[in-house]
Amino acid sequence: MAGHTALDRDRAHLLHPLHHPSAYAKTRVWVSGDGATLTDSTGREYIDGLSGLWNVNVGHGRRELGEAALAQMSTLAFSSAYAGGTNEPAIELADKLSALMYPSINAFFFTSGGAEASETSFKTARFYWKAVGKPGKFKVISRMRAYHGVTLAAMSATGLPAFWPMFEPRTPGFSHIDAPDPYRFVHADRSVSLGVAAANKLEEAILAEGPETVAAFIAEPVQGAGGVIVPPDDYFERVRAICTKYDVLLIADEVITGFGRTGRWFGLERYGVEPDIIQFAKGITSGYIPLGGIGVSDRVGEAINSVPPSRRWMHAFTYSGHPTCCAVALKNIEILEREGLIDRAAKSGARMLEELRTLESLDGIGNVRGVGMMAAVEVVADKATKQQFPAEIGMTQKLTDALLDRGLYTRVAMDCICVAPPLVTSDAQIDRIVGIIGETVSAVVSEAVSVKP
Ligand code: PMP
Repeated sequence: MAGHTALDRDRAHLLHPLHHPSAYAKTRVWVSGDGATLTDSTGREYIDGLSGLWNVNVGHGRRELGEAALAQMSTLAFSSAYAGGTNEPAIELADKLSALMYPSINAFFFTSGGAEASETSFKTARFYWKAVGKPGKFKVISRMRAYHGVTLAAMSATGLPAFWPMFEPRTPGFSHIDAPDPYRFVHADRSVSLGVAAANKLEEAILAEGPETVAAFIAEPVQGAGGVIVPPDDYFERVRAICTKYDVLLIADEVITGFGRTGRWFGLERYGVEPDIIQFAKGITSGYIPLGGIGVSDRVGEAINSVPPSRRWMHAFTYSGHPTCCAVALKNIEILEREGLIDRAAKSGARMLEELRTLESLDGIGNVRGVGMMAAVEVVADKATKQQFPAEIGMTQKLTDALLDRGLYTRVAMDCICVAPPLVTSDAQIDRIVGIIGETVSAVVSEAVSVKP
């Protein structure tokens, strides 16, 4: 009788992220995970090429994290951290983060995830400028192909237009500059490097908006969901200088790049600059329990701590500083340290990128890029012009399905196959990932070329 299988009940009752029934033609029910693998309800094993959703950094199946949650829940599962109340795990986690992060970032606020972290950053940037006597600064500049979450302001900062039309109008005061994509950026001003030219777009945007109106620039150190875009080495130094020059706070969205993904603890370390606000989520608990947050520089922290009570930072969530979530984060950070997973991500990631680059000679592969354990393979119809396959071919869905059929779970964003397996992925599993991608692209592209009008 219909209505009784898990998938029947799913279709009847569960709305999914980015919901549309057409995306569920080949639904898998995931039932277990171990290290870098996932198993579905038919017993088939897949390599988890995206660490869940860029978050399961320490890999699946870690009992220790469950035990940390159980121990905290058995003692004190929840208590409010609203001003006047606090708890040991939240204190210990904030203390630990101030030691791990950029030297000037020393005060932390916790959320349940990334979008709440984005909202917190935007509100804190507005707050900061009001507190220091520049209340006209409220706008936020971000980049095309950015992903900052889908609550209303975060969606407005997100630079993937597919997220917008059915939820318009967007929050006023948000605008976008081009992504610093070495493969696709139109490098018109050849008197400077591509990285500096891409950063100079920020200066143009600040001047166009009016510097006295711009509160912040938000950027992922490596753009993740937009297709793993690694900016040139000189990009962020110039961005930092522009932000400083025009009194614009630099918000680093490290929701994906934080906690080892790039082969360093945090993604901007590679560029030698510090943000004014950093936001994090995902890897802080390896996804075992929801937690995100922001860290603020001493200058921003000082503003929060020095306003009179009537002008306080009136921002809060029930779950800010949740003791159980913070206890799991502490245990997760302990695992990252104890097992040397940040160095491992750097080494395995370098090997993964080198192997993926051998695919660049294949028909249909336009560009391979990455840093640490995050990479992308971009599929194009024409390597010379970099043109993508026409939308009606549905390349993104075709690639996703064909990769799954061969045993690799991941996401494909605008024909870029994203590869971000857990930091514990073995060399043999990396070889398998690269093998599957090579086979899949060859098969899917030759089929698409044969049916092209
Ligand atoms: N920022 C970045 C860089 C992200 O990758 C994501 C999630 N993919 C978010 C923010 C939003 O996080 P969440 O889905 O937890 O709201």
